[in-house]
This record gives sequence, C-alpha cells and structure tokens, in this order.
Amino acid sequence: MYRIRLFAIRHARAFEWFYTRFESALVALDPLFRRIGYDRLERPVAAVEKLTKGLLFDCRMCGQCVLSSTGMSCPMNCPKNLRNGPCGGVRPGGFCEVKPQMRCVWVLAWDGAARMQGGGKINDVQPPVNRSLEGSSSWLRVAREKAARPAGPSDAPRDTIARAFPTARAHEPAAAPLAPEPPSASHRGNRH
Ligand code: SF4
Repeated sequence: MYRIRLFAIRHARAFEWFYTRFESALVALDPLFRRIGYDRLERPVAAVEKLTKGLLFDCRMCGQCVLSSTGMSCPMNCPKNLRNGPCGGVRPGGFCEVKPQMRCVWVLAWDGAARMQGGGKINDVQPPVNRSLEGSSSWLRVAREKAARPAGPSDAPRDTIARAFPTARAHEPAAAPLAPEPPSASHRGNRH
C-alpha cells in the first residue's frame, strides 16, 4: 500500500534498527534452519515474507532484498525496475516520469537513506536483478549466505559485479554520450 510504503521510508531509521537485529536473529537460527531443511522452509517463509513486506514496502519478492541500501524504498516499484537510480526522467517535485501520480522510488530512496545510520550504502552500485530468484525468500537467503561466511568480505559473484561497476563507470559514465567521439568519426564528413 502506497501510504504505508511512504510511512516506512519516513521511518527508515527505525526499520533499519529492527532489520539489523532481525538479520542477526536469522543468521543465529541457521543451524535450526539447516536441521529442518531450507528447502522445506522456503514456501512458508516466503509466504510470510511476502505478506509482511508486501504490506510495509510493496515488496515484489525479487528474492535479493536491498532495502537496507535503498532507504527502505523498494526499487522493484520503479516502473523501470532500476536497481541504481534515479533515472534522468524524474519530474519536477520528484515524481515518476512513467507514473506521474507516484513519487519517484529513487527520490524517496535517497530521502530514506538520509535518515538512516548506514544510509551511505545507497552509494554502493547494485548488480542487475537476478530474475531466477524471483519469488524466493530473501530472509532465508540472508541467513544461509551470512552464516556460511560470517567474517570477511563477501565473495558472491553478484558482489564481484557490483565492485567492478565503479571502475567501469569511471571509463564509461552512465549518461550519454558514453565516451568522446574518436577524431576519425567526427571528421568522417570532411573526407573526400
Ligand atoms: S528489494 Fe526485492 S525483496 Fe526487497 S522489498 Fe523490494 S522486491 Fe521485496
């Protein structure tokens, strides 16, 4: 629900506080989850996650939650599904160019991030959405992955891609034109 979504972003700091503790609890429960079986837990946990996060954040169950990096504004509500934003089409007043009645998801994300202690994470470049994870539980994924490597930097392939992006962008900025035209291209018309 849109109004609850806006409420969650306005209270991003409180949700951050809760989520930090909730995540620790999930990781601590990993041994129990393993005993029961992650596969067996997937359906019921995903159903609860869909219900609660759907109500609070209009969650679309992408399966790779980034709310803690996006000011508690779910990027999957962006009509373009941008995982890094905003795009260049934000309307005056911070409204979406595709759905003019809706505030831009990414303008809200930056608002929410400014209220959070770890709001700087919004500067981390997110990798593209892995569509094969749609519908699965992010909660269980966090428990499984963080329990498997509790210390040290993550080595997940998606993080590797994310780490590579800033370097790539230094050479090819996201906004067009990506690179200066080579002299041979701009002088093409002068050749005889
Ligand atoms: S980022 Fe994905 S899992 Fe998180 S709230 Fe949005 S759709 Fe749901």
